[in-house]
Amino acid sequence: MYLCKGICKKFKAKRPSVDKSRYKLGQKRCNACAIFLNYNDARCPCCGCKLRTNPRSTKLRRSLLIQKESIKKKSHSNLSAYSSEIWFHVDNTLKI
Ligand SMILES: [Zn+2]
Ligand SMILES: [Zn+2]
Repeated sequence: MYLCKGICKKFKAKRPSVDKSRYKLGQKRCNACAIFLNYNDARCPCCGCKLRTNPRSTKLRRSLLIQKESIKKKSHSNLSAYSSEIWFHVDNTLKI
């Protein structure tokens, strides 16, 4: 468990005045502290949680969902061991 100790507030990144991506400005996101940081390390100085440096690709997530849907449709008529293996993989990937 990563716990916020309040140290991250010292590194708190300002909200960009223009509508720019915070990640493009070099700000990093700590999920545990729920804060954007101006910090030059891969881990949060506060809780030690790994910092996110780019937006989680929602595209990838979506394409996986589409893949899952198409597999679901296919498996109605033809449930092979191969497709159930992908099912398992997609399920696991989405949980992360
Ligand atoms: Zn914190
Ligand atoms: Zn943190």
